[in-house]
Amino acid sequence: MTRRSITIVGASLAGIRAAESLRRQDFDGAITLIGDELHAPYDRPPLSKQFLAGDWETDRLTLTQPDKLDDLDLDLRLGVRAASFDLDSRRLGLADLEDQSSEELVVDGLLIATGARCRTLGGAEGLDGVFVLRSLDDSLAIRAAFDAGPARVVIVGAGFIGAEVAATARTQGLDVTMIESLPQPLSRVLGDEMGGVCADLHREHGVDLRTGVGVEAIEGDGHVERVRLNDGSMIEADVVVVGIGVIPNTEWLEGSGLTIDNGVVCDATCLAAPGVTAAGDVACWPNRRFGEVMRVEHWDNAVAQGAHAARRLLVEDDEAEPFIPVPWFWSDQYDRKIQMAGRIGLDDEMHIATGSLAERRFAAIYGRAGRLVGVLGFNRPRHVMRYRMLIEEGVSFEDAIAAEI
Ligand code: FAD
Ligand code: NAP
Repeated sequence: MTRRSITIVGASLAGIRAAESLRRQDFDGAITLIGDELHAPYDRPPLSKQFLAGDWETDRLTLTQPDKLDDLDLDLRLGVRAASFDLDSRRLGLADLEDQSSEELVVDGLLIATGARCRTLGGAEGLDGVFVLRSLDDSLAIRAAFDAGPARVVIVGAGFIGAEVAATARTQGLDVTMIESLPQPLSRVLGDEMGGVCADLHREHGVDLRTGVGVEAIEGDGHVERVRLNDGSMIEADVVVVGIGVIPNTEWLEGSGLTIDNGVVCDATCLAAPGVTAAGDVACWPNRRFGEVMRVEHWDNAVAQGAHAARRLLVEDDEAEPFIPVPWFWSDQYDRKIQMAGRIGLDDEMHIATGSLAERRFAAIYGRAGRLVGVLGFNRPRHVMRYRMLIEEGVSFEDAIAAEI
C-alpha cells in the first residue's frame, strides 16, 4: 500500500507510538501529528502517582526525548483541535486554539487517537477546589491544592483515579474521604472480593472509605466547602477530586460517516473505514482472542494499538492482521503494585496460585469454560507476566493451576 501522507489526530500516547511505528516500518511520507494540548506528548500514569506526590517534575513525563522527536520528522501541530472530518471528501477541519484560526486538510491515511476525557458531576461547575484528573494541567492544579495546607480531601469515585489519588494524598498525610456508589472500590474491574482487598488496603492507610453511597451535591460559596451524600450525611471538604470515569473524544467525528458507538468502531484489524484507523482509549474493536468487543482504557493497550493501527494503514486488506492482545494494566497504591492481565468476569472460577489475600501479596488466576482467561496480582509482577503469556498461549485452566511459575 503506497501512501503519500498520514495524519494522526491525538498527540499523546497512542498517537506518538503510532508515529514511531510508521518510521520503524520505513514509511518516508509526511506524518502530521495534531494535538489540542500545548505540551509536547507526555505520559499520564505519573499524574496520579509520582508527579502528583511532587517526587517527579515535568521532565520525567516526556514520552519522546526532543532529539528522538526531531528524528521522526513530524509536522507536529500542538494547540490545534480537529473539529470535523468527512470520510467521502477526506476533509479534516482544524481549529487553532491559540489564534482562533481554522483550516482544512485533505488527508490520505488518518489515524484517530483522541483518547477520552473525564466525566464531570453536574452542579459543581464554577466552584474552586473541585478537580478532575486527566491532563498535566489538572495534576498541577491538584498538586498546588494539596501543597496549599492541611487540606481535607474528598474523592468521588473509587475507580483507578480515586484509588491512586487517595493513596498519594494519604502518603502526604492529608485527610481523605473516598466515596463510591458500588459496594467496593474497583469492583467493576476486580470483582467484589478483590475490591474488598483494596478497601482494606485504603482503610488501613487511614482513608475514610464510604461505599454504596452517592453524591447528592457539592456545595460552597465560590470555593467548595462540603459534599452532601444521598444517605443524608455531609463531609467538610477543601479539595474534591472527581474520578467517575471517562467519555471517548468522538464528538468531532459526528456526521463524518464513521460509526461511533462507545468510541470509534473498528474491525478486528483496527480499521474504521478505508484508510482510517483508530487506537487507544477512543477505539472500540472486536478482540478475536476473547470473542469480545473491547474499548480498553489502559496504557499498554494505547502503546500496542497505536503501533498496530499505524501498520494497518500501510498494508493491503488481505495482508492485515487482527489485533488480539491480552489486555494488561498496573496500578500503584501505597506499597502495592496491582496488576491484571486478561479479562476477568464475575462468574469466572478463581484460584489463588501463590500468596494470600490476607497478606495482600498474591496472584489469583481466573478460568472460564476450561480456559485460563485472567490473572490478578498484588506485588507479584513475575507471576502476572508469566500467566499473561499462558493466556496468550491459550492454556487450559487446569494446566495453568498445575503450572510451576
Ligand atoms: P490520551 O492519553 O487521552 O490522549 C489523547 C490526546 O488527544 C489528548 O492529548 C487529547 O487532548 C487529544 N485530543 C482529544 N480530542 C482531540 C481533538 N479533537 N483534536 C486534537 N487532539 C485531541 N493506565 C495504566 O495501564 N496504568 C496506570 O497506572 C495508569 N495511570 C493513569 C493515571 C492517570 C492520571 C490517567 C489520566 C490515566 C492513567 N492510565 C493508566 C491510563 C492511560 O494513561 C491511558 O489509557 C492512555 O493515556 C490512553 O492513551 P491515548 O493516547 O489513547 O489517549
Ligand atoms: P473508572 O476506573 O471507570 O472508575 C470510576 C468509578 O467511579 C467507578 O467505580 C464508577 O462506578 C464510579 N462512579 C461513577 N459515577 C459515580 C458517582 N456519581 N458517584 C460516585 N462514584 C461514581 O474511572 P476513573 O477512576 O475516573 O479513571 C479514569 C480513566 O483513567 C479510566 O480510563 C482509567 O482506566 C484511567 N486510569 C487508569 C489507571 C490505571 O490503569 N492504573 C489509573 C488512573 C486512571 P460505576 O462503574 O458504577 O459507574
